[in-house]
Amino acid sequence: MLLAGKTAAISGAASARGIGRATSLLFAEHGARVAILDIDGAAAQAAAAELGPQHLGLCCDVADKASCTQAAERVLGAFGVLDILINNAGITQPVKTLEIDEASWDRIQDVNTKGVLFLSQAFLPSMRARRQGAIACMSSVSAQRGGGIFGGPHYSAAKAGVLGLAKAMAREFGPDGIRVNCVAPGLVQTDITAGKLSDAMRAEIVRGIPLGRLGEARDVAGIFLFLASDLSAYVTGAVIDVNGGMLIHG
Ligand code: NAD
Repeated sequence: MLLAGKTAAISGAASARGIGRATSLLFAEHGARVAILDIDGAAAQAAAAELGPQHLGLCCDVADKASCTQAAERVLGAFGVLDILINNAGITQPVKTLEIDEASWDRIQDVNTKGVLFLSQAFLPSMRARRQGAIACMSSVSAQRGGGIFGGPHYSAAKAGVLGLAKAMAREFGPDGIRVNCVAPGLVQTDITAGKLSDAMRAEIVRGIPLGRLGEARDVAGIFLFLASDLSAYVTGAVIDVNGGMLIHG
């Protein structure tokens, strides 16, 4: 039990096959009390109920500051303190540079990057007051290699923004005992890519992955567990790749 007695909030954790949901299950297995925050409030409540009565499911649009503030107030009201924040919520859009209109650019940035800022801002004051906290943020291999498989250039830019934001927060809040890290997954089989992957595309992608398979949500959940737990007590400002070797840095 790596998270016994800890409390955690995870954004974007309602969708059944998602990384956030797998993370909430693993955290609960490790003894944490979990708040599932998702734009789909009904699904968030159902997901929390499945974990057990001590968990919480709330509607929260991470791109909306007031929504984040309200969700944080409710989580802190129910749990008293928050030890762990997982900024996982995200959306993508498979378009090319010349097809990106302003509204699409804004929405992709708002959810993927501004959402990390707003939800972190909502919980950081209480973490700072206790001089402890672990925040982990969702980036993507798309940020590192200039495009994944499905994300457009605006998604790469947004996920690269997450890397910079998380590192800056790590620097700023390290003296307050708060760690901030990132996870950069390769292609993980969830609803974000569901139905968009033909057998031929899958085979082509797998050929470029040394470990010879696509990622599973639980592969990423394990890294979030590491970053949330005291096993990573001396790790901050780090980016952990979870891509089966799809991108090996020089
Ligand atoms: P998913 O679609 O299963 O999960 C995304 C969740 O975020 C959903 O529950 C959705 O309702 C929620 N959400 C969407 N907009 C929101 C908002 N404004 N506020 C709150 N919640 C919102 O997809 P997933 O693959 O589990 O994605 C989780 C994260 O992982 C995303 O940030 C995604 O960009 C990132 N990611 C995914 C992959 C992959 O291959 N699946 C790879 C790298 C990074």
